[in-house]
Amino acid sequence: MTLEFNAERSLVLDQAHGHIIAKGVVIQCPVIALPLDSFFTIVDELYSLFQSGAALILEKVGEATGRTNAKLAMPPRGKIEVLKAVYNSASTWGYGRYELARLDMASKEARIRIYDCAFARKSDVERRAMWYLVGFFKGYFSVFFEDDSVKCTEIKCASAGYDHCEFVVS
Ligand SMILES: [Zn+2]
Repeated sequence: MTLEFNAERSLVLDQAHGHIIAKGVVIQCPVIALPLDSFFTIVDELYSLFQSGAALILEKVGEATGRTNAKLAMPPRGKIEVLKAVYNSASTWGYGRYELARLDMASKEARIRIYDCAFARKSDVERRAMWYLVGFFKGYFSVFFEDDSVKCTEIKCASAGYDHCEFVVS
């Protein structure tokens, strides 16, 4: 069974082992598909255990995940082309539809928009689930720009009424 994203990216179910394999342009790796409601259950559990401290935990977990994903998918050459291709299409991680609104290698700045953001579907005033993505882009782009001082801020959120979420990395 194959779920096609497009001609070059797909998910393949390895029925013998019960694993899902992500096949991409620069990456082929096993993945797990987590129901969104299960992810939100993790978020709710973290907040019930750690209250506002859960935001920091989610951001740190997202950052570590973003670093790992970037290291898995970052080719030694042509990384700008790969990034532009990845961040101007439907996210293969299922996060939504990306738009890379800005990329400046000299100043190490990026601006990413996400339409139909999966994390914003659980809408609340605290943007609880969004901290994972803030951390994810911080981690991903710190590897991409090769600079650990990279920061990420979400300046618009679909859960606050905008038609997309928007992140500034600098
Ligand atoms: Zn958002």
